[in-house]
Amino acid sequence: MDCIFCKIAAGEIPAKKIFEDNEMLVFHDIEPKAPVHFLVIPKRHISSMMECTAEDSELLGRLLFRAQETAWELGCGDNGARFVINCKSDGGQTVEHLHIHALGGRKLEWPPG
Ligand code: 5GP
Ligand code: ZN
Repeated sequence: MDCIFCKIAAGEIPAKKIFEDNEMLVFHDIEPKAPVHFLVIPKRHISSMMECTAEDSELLGRLLFRAQETAWELGCGDNGARFVINCKSDGGQTVEHLHIHALGGRKLEWPPG
């Protein structure tokens, strides 16, 4: 499958990895939009959160919790961070493999454009 995040998960494309286990990978975004900007992905290809099923709900919880833990580890715990999941065209998703963005290290605007 021609999916860039599957290739990163398989080690075929390099990434600045932060954490990895049997089911997920955490790595720095290649074009950071904040001083801290990393992505949390499942290793299994799921095209977006809109395609998750009830069986994926525990995986989603673990991905989200790992995002929170990593944000603490990277110094964003006290001031906070933003966790974003862009979905499909209206959500602004550009890579069709489920990923959680974590952004921190500066004050973020709300609402997004
Ligand atoms: P989306 O717009 O789909 O929510 O976010 C995709 C994100 O993946 C973007 O922030 C983009 O910078 C990041 N990205 C795209 N290609 C690569 C890559 O090859 N390596 C890394 N580390 N990040 C990537
Ligand atoms: Zn994929």
